[in-house]
Amino acid sequence: MFKKILIANRGEIALRVLRACREMGIASVAVHSTADTDAMHVRLADESVCIGPALARDSYLNMPAIISAALVTGAEAIHPGYGFLSENAKFAEMVEAHGLVFIGPTAEHIRMMGDKITAKTTMAELGVPLVPGSPGELSSLEEAHEVAERIKFPVLIKAAAGGGGRGMKVARSKEELDSAWREARAEALAAFGNNAVYMEKYLDKPRHIELQILADNYGDVVHIGERDCSLQRRHQKVLEEAGSPAITAEARDALGKTATDALKKFGYRNAGTLEFLYQDGQFAFIEMNTRLQVEHPVSEMISGLDLVREQIRIAAGEKLGYTQADIQFSGHAIECRITAEDPETFTPSPGKVDMFHVPGGLGVRVDSALYAGYRVPPHYDSLIAKLVAYGRDRDEAIARMSRALREFVITGVKTTIPLHQKILANPEFQKGDYTIHWLERFVSQG
Ligand code: ADP
Repeated sequence: MFKKILIANRGEIALRVLRACREMGIASVAVHSTADTDAMHVRLADESVCIGPALARDSYLNMPAIISAALVTGAEAIHPGYGFLSENAKFAEMVEAHGLVFIGPTAEHIRMMGDKITAKTTMAELGVPLVPGSPGELSSLEEAHEVAERIKFPVLIKAAAGGGGRGMKVARSKEELDSAWREARAEALAAFGNNAVYMEKYLDKPRHIELQILADNYGDVVHIGERDCSLQRRHQKVLEEAGSPAITAEARDALGKTATDALKKFGYRNAGTLEFLYQDGQFAFIEMNTRLQVEHPVSEMISGLDLVREQIRIAAGEKLGYTQADIQFSGHAIECRITAEDPETFTPSPGKVDMFHVPGGLGVRVDSALYAGYRVPPHYDSLIAKLVAYGRDRDEAIARMSRALREFVITGVKTTIPLHQKILANPEFQKGDYTIHWLERFVSQG
């Protein structure tokens, strides 16, 4: 097992990784920007190294600085968390070229799945069903028109290099296609430096269902169940649950078998997530994330597994040591992503946190790097806390989440706690009756 791990991230996920390290008796090295000198991940780590100025491209995306920090401190492995360099194949390559272990999949697999067109063609070859669409990159606007005629409007133009919901435009009719094509390509170029786009049928009432995967270096692959991440705003997840209120155990098992068979053939290693849209009883693959996800705690709560610990064990060359049959799901978990934003306008609200009181009690988990007196910097993602509630069933999880949200006190910055309270109190949500379009409508109705 590793003796020391460098955590190439900040915020709650840096703490999450640090906690797993500490429980495993592994020393941790935090890296931080000059804006994060007082951050909790720096305070709690065994060692810390400043890797650059506030702007992410100068610090948390600064590959040479991070690798130097690992070499100088004698860390043997790097955990990238999510975001920043976690899906950067070049970084994974650089880490390994310096004799360090990248806690994640191979650079080749990161590269393949990072291109959503390659990801889709690869998964199709491995027997995973897809959303109908263009066979690959759209070569011209004429081809876009041809494909749209074939699959029928509405259609969605998506960026091959897409992420974070950017570079995605809906066209509901022939007339809208030209502008969707232009806008998606321009946005993709600006955000990712790559204007390759493809087309998918725009599904009108799907749920976003994703499957958590763990694979060791010896060909064993298991799934840790599904998460329902349909509650989204601007294609970004807001609240997630495990399991999905819309999926039966049989459907989960069938999807799990298709996915684990595919990833066995693919030779995947470490943690990953296959994302699907689910409509009319059919699953259709949209993309794979080759990293730990923000919403991983809900899967941990219903499986009892520590996914970061599993990632570290796998990266150190240990075998999974269990089979699919050993993984038992029990109860229900919900996660609310609490961001420092206005709960109605969603304008970011960085600044000094005056009071910070976290909820507690049975079945409540808070993953956060906040503390009273901390200043939320304006430079990074606005996620400030993940509140997770567990219950023996979904109703119990909802009741616990509702009361935990009432106990949570964060003052000084605006937060989305009031939005989550409204969602939890809604009868449609309580029935589990929602699609990926539900929250957008709910928010716009006030
Ligand atoms: P990103 O990588 O930018 O997050 P995804 O491909 O994962 O993009 O899609 C993000 C979200 O956009 C999905 O969870 C879903 O809500 C919506 N979406 C993506 N593809 C489709 C589609 N074909 N039809 C309807 N909604 C879609």
